Amino acid sequence: MERIYLDYAATTPTHPEVVKAMLPYFTEVFGNPSSIYSHGQEAKGAIEEARVKVADLIGARDKEIVFTSGGTEADNFALKGVAFANESKGNHIITSSIEHHAVIATCKFLEKRGFNVTYLPVDEYGLVDLDEIRRAITSKTILISIMHANNEMGTIEPIAEIGKTAKEAGIYFHTDAVQTVGHIPVDVNELGIDLLSMSAHKLYGPKGVGALYIRKGTRLIPFIHGGEQERRRRASTENTPGIVGFGKAVELAQQGMSEEAERLRHLRDKLIKGLLERIDHIRLNGHPLIRLPNNVNVSVDYVEGESMVLNLDLEGICISTGSACSSSSLEPSHVLLALGLSHERAHGSLRFSLGKWTTGEEIDRVLEVLPRIVAKLRAMSPLLKSHR
Ligand code: PLP
Repeated sequence: MERIYLDYAATTPTHPEVVKAMLPYFTEVFGNPSSIYSHGQEAKGAIEEARVKVADLIGARDKEIVFTSGGTEADNFALKGVAFANESKGNHIITSSIEHHAVIATCKFLEKRGFNVTYLPVDEYGLVDLDEIRRAITSKTILISIMHANNEMGTIEPIAEIGKTAKEAGIYFHTDAVQTVGHIPVDVNELGIDLLSMSAHKLYGPKGVGALYIRKGTRLIPFIHGGEQERRRRASTENTPGIVGFGKAVELAQQGMSEEAERLRHLRDKLIKGLLERIDHIRLNGHPLIRLPNNVNVSVDYVEGESMVLNLDLEGICISTGSACSSSSLEPSHVLLALGLSHERAHGSLRFSLGKWTTGEEIDRVLEVLPRIVAKLRAMSPLLKSHR
């Protein structure tokens, strides 16, 4: 059976050209980038080349990029780094209730260390309200952290406006752009961003490598202490193959980004239309238009999301309920609850995320298989029986 992978928001396959670019850095150019002999310096050179590519993708300067072990570390670094470095100025942070766990859990940790965090609500489409942000700002606010696009339901937040608001108030602005970098245009200057988190494995790069963009002049303390790597901002011997792979993935993402986004938008809309036409008691979650080109999130009433995912798996189709991180928990997604969905609706949610190798035939197959699965599950559903 051919596998149909529609979970690109959880992770992407590493592009073969990325793997090819990485290989020499495992066995040939394996020197420690901190070593002063040429073998080490060759590895260092490759890291610096990747840094230029990553910076270029988001309109930053290479010195403003710090490589990390992924998006989670970048989020932790940004929030804890700014919070602890600016404690004397204030102890208030503004974020949203739909952030990734990497941000939410870090905020919870900071609350235990004496910081106050405002978790802004979102509207039914998942959009934060600029007036709510303005109202939440106090003289103690040091940081606003709002994600660029949501990983579960794809809504794209008004980042440029939030950046402007933060700047006017003299507050640092961090955005988790893990789901957008490499997929839609991101320019830190146009968007007024001071700190931005990225992750390579969401853009056909390897897992376990990411970066934090830190605008020049931003006050933050290091998150990992030790050696003097990354201009003393992040200790530990650099992951040379991973960083080189990240650089290559970024280079590939830049080629034809808008054409690929357009192709995915077309497939996304075909999937949304087909699902809404063929399945009753189904609704689209997230904003109908202001959403990631590759994201489809729906709630199917009277059926458990897990049951649909497992039945689709038997047909060779990989999708997710909510986000990858919450798939193993029985709690409904905090993101869908924040949109105002009931627990039952949130439990019946599915996320499809399309990518580079998604075809129209694959979408047709989903549209043929899922209505059948839903009908079968509903026929045995206690949820439907209790409704009748
Ligand atoms: N932020 C968002 C929005 C994500 O979607 C993810 C991954 O699911 C992360 C952060 C964490 O990134 P990583 O897996 O590189 O730690």
